[in-house]
Amino acid sequence: MRCSEPGHRALVRAGLVAELGTLATTVVSTVHIVLIVVSALIACPAIFLVIRDTRRGTGKWGISFRGRLCPTCGTPLPLIRRPANERQRLWGGGTCKKCGTEVDKWGVVVPAGSEDV
Ligand SMILES: [Zn+2]
Repeated sequence: MRCSEPGHRALVRAGLVAELGTLATTVVSTVHIVLIVVSALIACPAIFLVIRDTRRGTGKWGISFRGRLCPTCGTPLPLIRRPANERQRLWGGGTCKKCGTEVDKWGVVVPAGSEDV
């Protein structure tokens, strides 16, 4: 069989395409595996912190599902809130509209002037 024959060219072309396809698949799956492993390494500790703090009802990472009362005057804190500072924007909590007491998302008073973000 000579190289100039159309059948042979088609076979060579098909072989090259198959080889390129295999190479592309290998590269993509390696990248995907690395992404999945890195994502898992980041996500697992974060999920652990969220579940732990939600169950304990303290800490910055948990999710507070209940509405809270102001510990000073008993006024219900709004569920949809407008953050008054960076800490409230990042970690939740609010400021009582009636008495101005700042509380975290668990309803615990944050000391005035606390710079802990
Ligand atoms: Zn209050």
